[in-house]
Amino acid sequence: MQIPYFCKTIFIKNTSINNKLLINMYENNLEFALNKDRNDSIALYRDKFFMPKQGNGNEFIYFTGNSLGLQPKSVRKYIEQELKDWETMGVEGHFNAKNPWMFYHEFLTDKMARIVGGLPSEVVVMNTLTVNLHLMMVSFYTPTKVKNKILIEKNAFPSDQYAIKSQIEFHGFNPAECLVEIEAKEGETYIRTEDILQLIDKEGDSIALIMLGGVNYYTGQAFDMQAITEAGHKKSCRVGFDLAHGAGNLLLDLHNWNVDFAVWCTYKYLNSGPGGISGCFVHKKHADNSSLPRFAGWWGHNKARRFLMEDEYLPISGAEGWQLSNAPILPMASLLASLDIFDEVGMEKLNKKSSDLTSYLEYLLLEINDRRISIITPSDKNQRGCQLSIRVKDSGKSLFDKITEQGVIADWREPDVIRVAPVPLYNSYTDVFRFVEILSEILENNINSS
Ligand SMILES: *Cc1c(COP(=O)(O)O)cnc(C)c1O
Repeated sequence: MQIPYFCKTIFIKNTSINNKLLINMYENNLEFALNKDRNDSIALYRDKFFMPKQGNGNEFIYFTGNSLGLQPKSVRKYIEQELKDWETMGVEGHFNAKNPWMFYHEFLTDKMARIVGGLPSEVVVMNTLTVNLHLMMVSFYTPTKVKNKILIEKNAFPSDQYAIKSQIEFHGFNPAECLVEIEAKEGETYIRTEDILQLIDKEGDSIALIMLGGVNYYTGQAFDMQAITEAGHKKSCRVGFDLAHGAGNLLLDLHNWNVDFAVWCTYKYLNSGPGGISGCFVHKKHADNSSLPRFAGWWGHNKARRFLMEDEYLPISGAEGWQLSNAPILPMASLLASLDIFDEVGMEKLNKKSSDLTSYLEYLLLEINDRRISIITPSDKNQRGCQLSIRVKDSGKSLFDKITEQGVIADWREPDVIRVAPVPLYNSYTDVFRFVEILSEILENNINSS
């Protein structure tokens, strides 16, 4: 289905947004938000998702698509097709199903490649995220006596920290010496790109692998992956990204950025459902590199010879060669339902709406003008996706509990941060307006009680 692009929105060209610019673009009233929704060419996609409802039958304001994306209404149909073919064909479904299971992961490849800016041969859908991170580190973290460190961002997602530390130990090194964590300057809330580049320049000779979250899950900061990759390669470091919060959120161009590898889950912005299957990118330059160590399994073996059950392992060229197992059809079916929607809309349109929607949220939050709240996410659009992380002073979790009572599903992170992610695919300008209205009313009522 083609949707006419009748919306004419003004986008800021300047990378450093200041409040003045926002004030010229937006208005703090419901009519303005409703009007933005009426002129939003992709607003109708909201209706393709189930919006969770409160006890009173009203929809929640759902701002946690960064944790678990909503269910596309079409998912049931996709899964039922596979259940039907399993019911009527049994094992024959591997070749005879409407979507033969033998090749099912391939139906996802092109669509996923478009989302992350990879060539189809560089992208595969398999396993789950932390598993893929380990598989990639097996191949791309090959420490030596002098070059054995891994650079991550401080306060990276815990699973990434555990995985990385365990890999360092697995190779007989000490995480206390080999884990380099870069953090924001004292008094600042996110990491300056120039600090990352400087650190790589200074310590790169001892760094084997740079592995950052493309978007930090806590602050919402999006890193300059192209510049970091370039700086890393200058020092012969391998460079990979965890795109759990990047895939389906940012405009990505992994192939041209020359990233060595990337991994991401699909249950966040990509709406594949709880525990959904993961995505993995391996740059073309490594497609046939037999000197890379890798853990092998039969699904990565030459497709034409897979069922010959031979002893010798011949990996498929490209990312598919890292597959281990017979792929899970039902989670892939639910992911396919969502990727078909992404493919129809396209990342460009989503990204345009996303940056406008999030700027509107930023504008309204600044309008509250209350010293108890501040935004710790960069105001530069090039350094964030749709998420804003709001630091709440002096109110603790009680403020968050109150917005929850008022029908907002957001996310609380200790010690003092509320993360909100208006997702362009199914959130509206009205959602954003109502959320800030609820938040500011609670702040006003709390003025004497805190
Ligand atoms: C969500 C998330 C994970 C979760 O990993 P799973 O293996 O899917 O449980 C890991 N890393 C990051 C950065 C995440 O945001």
